[in-house]
Amino acid sequence: MNADDLFALDSRTIVPTYARLPVAFTHGQGAYLFDAQGRRYLDFAAGIAVVAMGHAWEPWLEAIKRQAAALAHVSNLFYTEPMAQLAQRLTAHSFAAKVFFCNSGSEANETALKFARKWARAHFGPQKHKLLAFEGSFHGRSLGALSLTHKAKYRQPFEPLVPGVSFAPFNDLGAAEAAIGEDTCAVFVEPVQGEGGVHPADPAFLAGLRELCDRHHALLVFDEVQCGLGRTGHLWAHQAAGVNPDIMTLAKPLAGGLPIGAALVTEAVAAAIESGDHGSTFGGNPVACAAALPVFDHVSQPEFLAQVAAKGERLMAGLRSLPGPPVRQVRGAGLMVGVELDRPVKPLLDAALARGLVVINAGENVLRLTPPLIVSDADIDQALAILGQCLQSNPQEG
Ligand code: PLP
Repeated sequence: MNADDLFALDSRTIVPTYARLPVAFTHGQGAYLFDAQGRRYLDFAAGIAVVAMGHAWEPWLEAIKRQAAALAHVSNLFYTEPMAQLAQRLTAHSFAAKVFFCNSGSEANETALKFARKWARAHFGPQKHKLLAFEGSFHGRSLGALSLTHKAKYRQPFEPLVPGVSFAPFNDLGAAEAAIGEDTCAVFVEPVQGEGGVHPADPAFLAGLRELCDRHHALLVFDEVQCGLGRTGHLWAHQAAGVNPDIMTLAKPLAGGLPIGAALVTEAVAAAIESGDHGSTFGGNPVACAAALPVFDHVSQPEFLAQVAAKGERLMAGLRSLPGPPVRQVRGAGLMVGVELDRPVKPLLDAALARGLVVINAGENVLRLTPPLIVSDADIDQALAILGQCLQSNPQEG
């Protein structure tokens, strides 16, 4: 099918929830994507911070083929080994004692919300049900996760949402202190806000939230769906602040490109959950978990994480030397980078795509760069050269 026929078929048959860029990819290899005309694109989106080991990574592919040929699905009514193996790795390398598997970031946050409510009710009673999240937050599109998501445009058409949620300004500990009380059951925060424009949390802010949660017997939930698993140059983004949560949610890169989500919890949280409290038909699916094992084993190596940090510095240093205006600020952590412009970023996305570079936005004015973690220095230099050309050739439009 040629690209125009595909665009037409898509618009006739797919509910129009997305504004897609005008390209249909057919395959990928490493940090590159290819379209039906055989055109090659450097992928600095990685499927929105998902394809950490690049496209068609051999160990990942082999693990999927092997597991799919052996057993693709049986449900959670039975035991399967890849799920237990993945949980073992996640708990051995984090604060957590136990894991609940699901299929997406939204579901991981739904899980965290339900677990926090159950934990608080069991220990303190039903009045302790309130939730605090932050301005600029994004926790997902299902009703519970959406209730914790700040952007009015995403929320308003679907109100009323889950009651009891309030929002405080991000990185403002005084405001958080005023908003947390004895009725608060959990505080949700992204250690690096992604969709809200790539804003790292101050280490002192995360440490202060930990202290406030302890003081008020509330659970601290770190949403590391986008910033977790090596993206920032740390295995977990919160390690930069030296602060542990009670629950951490993961998704995007965990299975290297297959759907998966996970809520990692302390023993105290797990102890409040009983058989029948929560569930998912596909959660912990053997193929997804088998795919995740080589990804985790590779990304969790200290040498690999050090390389991510070094590449992130190279990328940010290069971006800081781009002509500005229109560049207002470059910020981020590791290979999760935002470039705030003084104008809408959409023309820059289009111009980069036309020059063979795939980049995405985070809000109206922020260019977001989340390449595969295996991206090479040469790829980074190439992306910087393309962005420099785009900004120079049409500075008025970005
Ligand atoms: N949490 C964060 C921090 C995210 O960035 C996202 C997605 O962008 C989600 C949750 C929702 O994940 P999903 O789209 O897999 O439901």
